[in-house]
Amino acid sequence: MPMSDSFSKRLSPILPDIVDTFGTPFHIYDETGICDTCDTLNTVFAPIGGFKEYFAVKALPNPHIMKILFEKGFGFDCSSVPELALSRKIGAKGDDIMFTSNNTSAAQFTEAMDHGGCILNLDDISLISKLPAVPDVICFRYNPGPRRSGNHIIGNPVEAKYGVSHDQIKKAYEAAIHMGVKRFGIHTMLASNERNFAYMVETADMLLDIVTELFQHLDIRFEFINIGGGLGIPYSPNDQLFDLAAMARGIMQSLEKFRKKNGFVPRLYMESGRYITGPHGVLITSVINHKHIYRDYVGVDASMAALMRPGMYGAYHHIHIHGKEHLPPSKTVDVVGALCENNDKFAIQRQLPETREGDILVIHDTGAHGHSMGFNYNGHLRPKELMLQKDGSVVLIRRAETMADYFATLDFVPQVMPANAS
Ligand SMILES: *Cc1c(COP(=O)(O)O)cnc(C)c1O
Repeated sequence: MPMSDSFSKRLSPILPDIVDTFGTPFHIYDETGICDTCDTLNTVFAPIGGFKEYFAVKALPNPHIMKILFEKGFGFDCSSVPELALSRKIGAKGDDIMFTSNNTSAAQFTEAMDHGGCILNLDDISLISKLPAVPDVICFRYNPGPRRSGNHIIGNPVEAKYGVSHDQIKKAYEAAIHMGVKRFGIHTMLASNERNFAYMVETADMLLDIVTELFQHLDIRFEFINIGGGLGIPYSPNDQLFDLAAMARGIMQSLEKFRKKNGFVPRLYMESGRYITGPHGVLITSVINHKHIYRDYVGVDASMAALMRPGMYGAYHHIHIHGKEHLPPSKTVDVVGALCENNDKFAIQRQLPETREGDILVIHDTGAHGHSMGFNYNGHLRPKELMLQKDGSVVLIRRAETMADYFATLDFVPQVMPANAS
């Protein structure tokens, strides 16, 4: 079931007032739901001592939300300098932050190691020699290549640009030991929106096998394994929920087996984004036009600048019309934004009840990879973000972009390189 019933019950009665107060379009996030998911994750994995979730910042890079997650004991997974700065601004430092970058520049490493540092998650063996200093702890991102088939969304690991290959992984840790690094972890990220818990257990098993091997050959006692993110959520009403408890049980058994064999056990880290915030956000947009040509179109005041996933991946986002939740569908329509791109559609050939201008559409599950993925193509400005707080109040946590923002990068003293400069 997309968008929880409890979020729906909290939001629905006050939605018209929120729309009157703030105007559409906007994303709104549910503090209660986010906190509940954090608590569930922490509870389910509590028997695994030292479990830590590093929230993938790119999913919802809003400091108001990140603060809630930080208070729940989460760290942050960053892949750029602005994401590092955002995490540090709310107080995260050192082992609270994982820097999982790809094709990283020397300047990025310097930033990552400054300001209280972080856990470096290196994406390639060649990067060791490019670090500006010896870090306390190093983690490598492992790419199993043909040893593992990726899940259906992320694709085949052989074709993925990420990580250290199987035959390089031992050499990579040897080089790190040689450099003087004392603490180690290992990471992988193979799934995206995977709703089969067994896949994540297999991923933990895969990393534990390598950790065993490297313990035997290099005598490294790994501090942690990081099995990445990619836990799936049900976007469509037909989708099953991810069985988090079964995943925790499976990994616990694997860790116990590992402990018996090796006499120590690494901590379990995870870096989910979607699973934490995805179902706890919706995009609210008003119907502004109807058009009937070869197909019937419902035009809304949001565009793919607010939500790229349908246009970019053909992703399904459930939609309901506020106040018409219980009406049977009576029309097959495309729900569209205003961009001059024919993939600016929130839904294609979707069955919905009849809409009228002014109707409020609720587009589900936009709490992760929603606002953050938006762009300014075609002069479209990204909408505001709101949060429905636990006490029922609603707070603006990011204003909408303005024309001034759009023009900000044109506001500078021109730099000119004269002709024939020598
Ligand atoms: C995007 C990403 C994540 C989060 O993915 P979700 O599908 O939101 O869980 C985690 N780790 C890395 C390295 C990523 O690139």
